[in-house]
Amino acid sequence: MIVCSHAEQNPIAVQIHPNNQLQMSSPNIPTVQTAAIVPSPGAAIVVRHDVPVKQASELLPGECLIKLACTGVCHTDLHAKIGDWPLKAKTPLIGGHEGVGEVVAIGAHTSNKEIKIGDRVGIKWLADSCLDCESCRKGLEQNCPLAKLSGFNVDGTFSQYVVSYVNHVTPIPEGIESAEAASILCAGVTVYRALKYSGTNIGDWVVLPGAGGGLGHLAVQYAVQMGLRVVAIDSGAEKKALCLKLGAEAWIDFRESKDIVKAVKDICDGVGAHCAIVTAANSSGYEQAVDYLRSGGTLMAVGLPGEAKLQASIFFTVFKSLNIKGSYVGNRQDAREALAIAARGKVKCHYVLKPLADLKDVFEGMEQGKVAGRVVLDMK
Ligand code: NAD
Ligand code: ZN
Repeated sequence: MIVCSHAEQNPIAVQIHPNNQLQMSSPNIPTVQTAAIVPSPGAAIVVRHDVPVKQASELLPGECLIKLACTGVCHTDLHAKIGDWPLKAKTPLIGGHEGVGEVVAIGAHTSNKEIKIGDRVGIKWLADSCLDCESCRKGLEQNCPLAKLSGFNVDGTFSQYVVSYVNHVTPIPEGIESAEAASILCAGVTVYRALKYSGTNIGDWVVLPGAGGGLGHLAVQYAVQMGLRVVAIDSGAEKKALCLKLGAEAWIDFRESKDIVKAVKDICDGVGAHCAIVTAANSSGYEQAVDYLRSGGTLMAVGLPGEAKLQASIFFTVFKSLNIKGSYVGNRQDAREALAIAARGKVKCHYVLKPLADLKDVFEGMEQGKVAGRVVLDMK
């Protein structure tokens, strides 16, 4: 092995393999690590300190090894752990898909030119896609039939090291702390894309059920940046204060309001909102959405309750010329755009930093609706 020092802060080990291919990696990659594991469907999280780390020589072409600095905790991770979706996660599972870290190794024969050892990159829900199927060619990479989903069908970021894929990791721009960038990689990208395709214009009213949660509080800020007027719906004094501070013009507490449809219509010129982006994780957040939209309005379905059906009057969907659309994370370009806005300080994740050992408690708090904004786990 030769250790060369062309990057002084990142000495790189260059290994000559038996097949004469250069293999790049940082030195000192441990053989075991700490990770939070869901051992079997629905089982409690176990934090283990003896989980193997894939070594540089074991990486396949296109794979890279990331040493994580931090990772956000998304409600999707809770769905994956509980198993309340029609699609089930693999087990044993290392969850997590809002990771930021440093590239410490890249598999031999990897052709991607952009990503290098020492780069700070993000891992999003869509860890990899084929980039060659109809969905990928149309920019719907997240709908690729061969999609690898971080913390769902491949191991994710609740670990010190994660194997990811050079074509889909997202370069983190300068000017944003890793802990601030983490949740932009799922929560931020998702709501940014939902707003982008919502058909709204400057000055339109957007209703955000789930506004005080991880996705919702970022949606408030991206919406404000787009010149939209925000009606935040969630519950509790802390989330109310957060949403109003972030720029929501009106607040409705879904636990206290007797008539959410009337409340929204009263706020939105007496006729209803132009758009609703539902990020609540249960079906109740969807219940009145179609009723409080004005004619020509759009419902963007984002929150993912597992078994619920969307209740909407067919008559009024037609009669009011409504649009109902599903919006699922985002592609590589959406990720870069969402991060660029955050790196310019226009959108800030409101988060509390906690150790990985607290993940079980974080899930409990999330299940009870107690997490305002996000929890980010410190993985260093
Ligand atoms: P979260 O728990 O942080 O936030 C959900 C918020 O919804 C909470 O603040 C809760 O109080 C609020 N809420 C619950 N019932 C409500 C109601 N009836 N009206 C208004 N608000 C209500 O969760 P999160 O991490 O923001 O994720 C939310 C959902 O989005 C999850 O189902 C998650 O799986 C899904 N998700 C979807 C995508 C996508 O690509 N479409 C991406 C990421 C997450
Ligand atoms: Zn997520």
